[in-house]
Amino acid sequence: MAAPITTISDSKDRNNLNLIAAHSHIRGLGVTPDTLTPKPVADGLVGQQQARKAASVILQMAKEGKIAGRAVLISGPPSTGKTAIAIGMSKGLGEDVPFTMLASSEIFSLEMSKTEALEQAFRKSIGVRIREESEVIEGEVVEIQIDRSVTGNNKSGKLTLKTTDMETLYDMGTRMIDSMTKEKVMAGDVISIDKASGRITKLGRSYTRSRDYDAMGADTKFVQCPDGELQVRRETVHTVSLHEIDVINSRTQGFLALFSGDTGEIRSEVREQINTKVAEWKEEGKAEIVPGVLFIDEVHMLDIECFSFINRALEDELAPIVIMASNRGSATIRGTSYRSPHGLPLDFLDRVVIISTHPYSPDEIREILSIRAQEEEIDISPDALALLTKIGQETGLRYAGNLITTSHLLSQKRRAKEVEVHDVQRSFQLFYDPSRSVKFVAEFEKRFIGEDGGVTLSNGL
Ligand code: ATP
Repeated sequence: MAAPITTISDSKDRNNLNLIAAHSHIRGLGVTPDTLTPKPVADGLVGQQQARKAASVILQMAKEGKIAGRAVLISGPPSTGKTAIAIGMSKGLGEDVPFTMLASSEIFSLEMSKTEALEQAFRKSIGVRIREESEVIEGEVVEIQIDRSVTGNNKSGKLTLKTTDMETLYDMGTRMIDSMTKEKVMAGDVISIDKASGRITKLGRSYTRSRDYDAMGADTKFVQCPDGELQVRRETVHTVSLHEIDVINSRTQGFLALFSGDTGEIRSEVREQINTKVAEWKEEGKAEIVPGVLFIDEVHMLDIECFSFINRALEDELAPIVIMASNRGSATIRGTSYRSPHGLPLDFLDRVVIISTHPYSPDEIREILSIRAQEEEIDISPDALALLTKIGQETGLRYAGNLITTSHLLSQKRRAKEVEVHDVQRSFQLFYDPSRSVKFVAEFEKRFIGEDGGVTLSNGL
């Protein structure tokens, strides 16, 4: 049975455990926030600067809501950090922006059709931020009056704060703090509040200076009532995915399915109803759509029907950003006899932005292995690290990374404080890397069970 598709939040404790653990050292894309320039080593990421820069531009666009419904392909040889970069992007997304990881082989299951599995993955990647408003104070704790002499346009009312109890206002989550000096807005100060953005400008008591203040807490807002009075309201915000709303409203599944992950197929009428409802909430200002990111690893494993589905789904109004990864050069598109770059149909490839990753230099490999060792709290002697680096160059980063753990186990057996060269050598002998395994298979092919289930004997029978 195929594993249910998981989001980054629930994958930590259930499926995809290895996937996350292998990338647990990655904390972001390691770029400077203003210019998006990648630092050589930052946030656990090393090198691959061009790809990281490109990824951070995409991330920036995603944050600004400019790129929903687009597809990005990260292409490059195995173990060159494609998944690592996607994880780095996920860390830079807002806390409530959904990030869903899907290994293409996961969708081939007996439980549901592959297009249903993809549909669920798409809907897991769209968040719905629902606001619930409750009135908190009205003249009770704080008295806020509109100073009509300075009222300008409709959007920003100029207010005179007359409260003596600012602390209560702060306790409610209202942050009225100068973004530069961290100075608080004081009782009696005259401020203007842009109701659209929540941004505060302090005009000062004598109206002589104007300075920008940090936006107020997202959960509190000032509302100007029709009678001219001002209320302070608290807003609670929840973000759920479209998929979660689907499951809760699907009579056959019920919300408990969210815990088991065993959601089965969801009827299209349920989804249509949810889409209509969410559109209504949006219209009424009660909800906001948060397009998230769907990461599809090993995308060349998808077949032509899946690509047609994704092509169509990207056109939908409610589409996330789709990031795919492939380590294939030219490959046959599954379900056809055509070959194409990365195993992707040409018309699909046409709408994709491509980021490529390149093989690492020995220094970069050493740096990555050293970060991994620190992450696993393993001490390695310089010589052992040099040997692991050499192995990484020849066999790939993933294998060398795995040897860190196995060598550590061996060093612990002899109660050593750090991993030494002979621990690495011993691990290397015990555990094969892919190319040695291929050699082994080629050498002893006749003794293995063939695809038809038969064993070829040495005499050819
Ligand atoms: P494949 O094509 O085989 O799926 P990939 O390109 O997705 O490979 P990753 O899985 O991202 O490669 O990398 C292999 C291991 O090396 C992971 O543990 C990953 O976190 C780490 N790694 C790869 N590149 C970097 C990097 N630039 N900085 C830090 N760690 C990295």
